[in-house]
Amino acid sequence: MATTAAQAYKNFIGGEWVDAASGETFESTSPANGDAIGVFPRSGAEDVDRAVAVAKEAFAEWRLVPAPKRGEILFRIARVLEGEKAALTDLMTHEMGKVKAEAGGDVQEAIDITYYMAGEGRRLFGQTTPSELRDKWNMSIRQPIGVVGAITPWNFPVAIPSWKLIPALICGNTVVLKPASDTPALAQRFVELLAEAGIPDGVVNLVHGGGGTVGDRLVRHPDVRVITLTGSRETGVEVLKAAADTLTHVHLELGGKNAIIVLDDADLELAVEGIVWSAFGTSGQRCTAASRVIVQRGAYAELQKRLVERVEKLRLGPGWEDDSDVGPVINQRSLEKIHSYTEIGNGEGAKLLTGGEVASEGDLGKGFFYRPTVFADVDPQMRIAQEEIFGPTTALIPVADLDEAIRVSNGIKYGLSSSIFTQDVNAAFRAMRDLEAGITYINAGTIGAEVHLPFGGTKDTGNGHREAGQAALDVFTEWKSIYVDYSGRLQRAQIDTEE
Ligand code: NAD
Repeated sequence: MATTAAQAYKNFIGGEWVDAASGETFESTSPANGDAIGVFPRSGAEDVDRAVAVAKEAFAEWRLVPAPKRGEILFRIARVLEGEKAALTDLMTHEMGKVKAEAGGDVQEAIDITYYMAGEGRRLFGQTTPSELRDKWNMSIRQPIGVVGAITPWNFPVAIPSWKLIPALICGNTVVLKPASDTPALAQRFVELLAEAGIPDGVVNLVHGGGGTVGDRLVRHPDVRVITLTGSRETGVEVLKAAADTLTHVHLELGGKNAIIVLDDADLELAVEGIVWSAFGTSGQRCTAASRVIVQRGAYAELQKRLVERVEKLRLGPGWEDDSDVGPVINQRSLEKIHSYTEIGNGEGAKLLTGGEVASEGDLGKGFFYRPTVFADVDPQMRIAQEEIFGPTTALIPVADLDEAIRVSNGIKYGLSSSIFTQDVNAAFRAMRDLEAGITYINAGTIGAEVHLPFGGTKDTGNGHREAGQAALDVFTEWKSIYVDYSGRLQRAQIDTEE
């Protein structure tokens, strides 16, 4: 297993690795077998204040570094990440638990966004537009905003920090990162690599610790101008309220309750593959996980049969083992929450087709493994069809036709990802138009975002922003409009109109 040097388990402030001011620590352990990963600073407000002060100071210089030069550093970061991909992947299978292929994908996402944003250093386009007055020049430019506070979850422990830090940096902002307490070693390693690739001291800072302490201080700090948070809806609401007094910009990527629609004419083999990948990949711990499958009645019986056969073949095991299909869930609390939803589903009268229990045979008992779970005959209003479970549980909901399928898919508070399996091009286009979600897949599951398209959701999944692609630049820059009058006289817009 890859290990980070013992001295690396620290905060990173102004280019130095330092302990929490209080000297307190917390431990990170593997969800697969309880092995210790490392001991990390349990930071507090004082540590955040230091990091923000340093980031504010560094901003004065970093904003003036030409964007193409910032891009060159990002190209170096991308190459360093490529060189470290295998080690980061291995560490991720231990600290976060996802299986090898998916852990590699997580790191690849970071590499991809870094190359993409590095190129943005030579674009960051503004606009020029004619003036309504003679001898006058109009243009708009993007400007960096200042110190960005990035608060990240554990389920994409390298990809999500990269989706926040890399765009923030190319735009000329400086950053304080507060990673999830379940995956601090991966965040630490990521920041180490940024420093190694040449990010100047103070431009990227890392403060480990809890959401209610470090996260909350970051959100309320008057010198933090942007908060970018990926997490649960409940955290998003708290953060939005906490940021109100300082009018801090807030970018939220929150939960999902995503559905795959399967129509009668679908390629069922393909649909089953899509469902298994989307519902049980990352043990269902993806914001885009398919936790509902809406099936037209003609395909319902056959789909159930094929799905259960396929799901029961999935092998649970530690992420680092080659033949593991499904890894552990993140912690005991999560395991209990997932099981409580099995009890809720049973209580609501849904039919448990497979799974529904903690897997504890042999070495699985050392970790937090839950058997892939499929409920059938689920009513769209049941709690298991409405609430985010964030585990390997999916709910089959039978419907009569496309109209009902779209109504059911939309009948939740979230709006992140959506999908339809059909051979009917008309149905596919109606779904593209009518599904209330930030992402729609046709003949693919609910997961599989690529970094050059906007990522995010409608309704309660966020607050209108998007991550990745060009859209990310809108989170990390502000527009400035510039008017240059070279007429040599006072020209008044809207008033001095010419013939
Ligand atoms: P979480 O909301 O518990 O924590 C997310 C981060 O916020 C952590 O770093 C946490 O310490 C911090 N935090 C918690 N309370 C805070 C507060 N009051 N102030 C400031 N920071 C605080 O979420 P999680 O369990 O780490 O992740 C799972 C959730 O994230 C799920 O709901 C999932 O859908 C969502 N998610 C969304 C996306 C997306 O892009 N839409 C991607 C991945 C995960």
